[in-house]
Amino acid sequence: MNLSNQKVVVCGGGGFIGGHLVGQLLRDGVDVIRSIDVKPVRDWYQVHTGVENVSADLKEIDACHAAVRGADVVFNLAADMGGMGFIENNKALCMLSVLINTHLLLAAKSAKISRYFFSSSACVYNAEKQTSPDVVALKESDAYPALAEDGYGWEKLFSERMCRHFEEDYGLQCRVARYHNVYGPDGTWTGGREKAPAAICRKVLEAKMSGKHEIEIWGDGEQTRSFMYIDDCVKGSRMILESEIHEPINLGSSELVSINQLVDIVEDLAGVKLKRNYNLNAPRGVNGRNSDNTLIKAKLGWEPSITLRDGLSKTYAWIESQIEAVAAVR
Ligand code: NAD
Repeated sequence: MNLSNQKVVVCGGGGFIGGHLVGQLLRDGVDVIRSIDVKPVRDWYQVHTGVENVSADLKEIDACHAAVRGADVVFNLAADMGGMGFIENNKALCMLSVLINTHLLLAAKSAKISRYFFSSSACVYNAEKQTSPDVVALKESDAYPALAEDGYGWEKLFSERMCRHFEEDYGLQCRVARYHNVYGPDGTWTGGREKAPAAICRKVLEAKMSGKHEIEIWGDGEQTRSFMYIDDCVKGSRMILESEIHEPINLGSSELVSINQLVDIVEDLAGVKLKRNYNLNAPRGVNGRNSDNTLIKAKLGWEPSITLRDGLSKTYAWIESQIEAVAAVR
């Protein structure tokens, strides 16, 4: 399939990844007919012109039928989510996103949508395979036997399986990407739902600006992760949607860093050195996680490649501009 002659709908278009996806597809000449998000349009990270921008709750089946009307392709990026602090403390809310995917799949089936994309997560992986910071990168089969992240991860795993069965039983073509920590500008950077790269950029900036050269780090900082810059995420999502990959596939960077190394890079960008206070009681997630990209390289001849340093420098500059904008209106 080639998206260039399809009518596309993006669900969760007011969010971080959805906003970037709509923008890139439009720049590529794709006919994005509609973008939907539960937030009022004034609160979206990006509002693109030439698209019908709709505020609606996709937990409701009627909203899902309206959302997919006239479309060929649906990207489902809508979910109640956030960083570790949010998902550990809001498990029921995270699991309720199952209503979004369930109702969207039903609506897509009845509208005879030709292709459906679901944004899953590395949180589906079995926790017992992520106990050491010296990680063996996670390959797709490591999701089973299932022991996903409680709440959020189980919802993603269940929704992945629902996509699979809608394809097997009803012929709805589904594609599923397991995103590993996506970051970049125009996303959540404050308020409690932000993830580690944005949180650390903000904390380093606040320390620099206030002159109080200290930073709180969740856990001992030795937990390891990989982080994918948004441009790679958007590019990979389109490639997976257009592909013949019928099983869930990793979409993540394989550049592994510890949280301490992430802080090193941001300190370097800021030109400061901070005293690190480790909060061992804060949510920290699994000890180590990386993306095994064997399958995506084999299937697409491509993998995310934007370096953490390059991506962080753009993210850091954007968060700095946001802090300055907030300060200017005070
Ligand atoms: P985001 O929170 O910025 O975007 C999600 C959007 O969904 C939000 O704008 C939210 O308002 C919207 N939404 C929530 N409930 C809704 C509802 N009932 N109806 C309509 N819209 C609703 O998050 P994001 O980082 O852009 O994530 C997009 C998708 O990618 C999500 O499914 C998320 O679980 C998945 N994902 C993201 C990451 C990451 O690191 N950002 C990692 C793994 C998976």
